[in-house]
Amino acid sequence: MSYSVLYTDEKTEGKLIEERGFGGDSLRWREVYLLAKYLRLEYGYGRNKIRNIISYNCESEIKGFNAFKYKSSIDTVVKAAMKKNEYVIDKDVFITDTEISKIQTIKNFFLQKVALVVLFMVKRGRGDVFKLSEVNFISPLFPRNVSKRKIRIALSELQRMKFLKRASETSLVPTYRSDEGLKIIEIYNVGQALNLVNEYVKFCGGELKFCRRCKQSFHPTTTSHVLCDECKRKSYKKRHEVYNKKRRSKNV
Ligand SMILES: [Zn+2]
Repeated sequence: MSYSVLYTDEKTEGKLIEERGFGGDSLRWREVYLLAKYLRLEYGYGRNKIRNIISYNCESEIKGFNAFKYKSSIDTVVKAAMKKNEYVIDKDVFITDTEISKIQTIKNFFLQKVALVVLFMVKRGRGDVFKLSEVNFISPLFPRNVSKRKIRIALSELQRMKFLKRASETSLVPTYRSDEGLKIIEIYNVGQALNLVNEYVKFCGGELKFCRRCKQSFHPTTTSHVLCDECKRKSYKKRHEVYNKKRRSKNV
C-alpha cells in the first residue's frame, strides 16, 4: 500500500481550520489547501465532495464571498491538494547504529550524507534497491539543494568504494545496510525525511571535514579550513623552523 503523508503540523492546522472555519474577510489559499488535503487524507473524500465542502464553507464563513469569482482558483487549489506526495513512505524507516558506524568510515562528509539518504530511500520503499531515476528526489533532501550532477558523481564514488553495488542496469543496492542493531534515526513522515540530513549533522556534532593530511575528522571553523588542529600546528611549526633556519644561515 502506498499513501501520501501529511506533515504533522499540516494535519494539526487542517484539523483546526475544519473546527474553526475560514473566518475573516478574505480567502487565504493556504487554508483552503490545508483543509482540502486534510479532508482527502483524513476522510478519504474525492475531489468533487471536497470542492463542494470548501465552496459551502466559504459562502457561510466569509463575509461577502463571491463564489463565481473564486470558482476556478478553488478548483486549482483542490487539485493541488489531491496530488500524491513525491516522498511516499511505505513504512517507518529506521537507521541503525551499525549502519551509521559503517557510513562514518567514509572519509568525506558529503559522501556520508549521500550514503545515508540513499539508505533511507531504499528502506522507505518496498524493494531493496535504489533506482537511479530516484536521483531527482534526493536533491531536495539536502538543506541546500545539491545538483543532480554532484549526486551522480557521489553515487559512482560510492560504487568505487564498494558502498553501493549494481543490482541491475537501473538500480543500486547499499552494502552497508544492516537492520540489526540499535535504532538511531527514525523517520515516519515527509517532514522528518526532509530533515534527515540536518539530523545527521546534529548527530555528528556539526559539519565535519577530514584533514587533508592525516584524514582525521574535525569540525571546521571556516570553509577554507582543511587541516586538523594538530596538522595545522605541525605545519606552522615546520614553516617556522624553515624560516628560522634561513634566517640563521643569513646571519652567519
Ligand atoms: Zn590532520
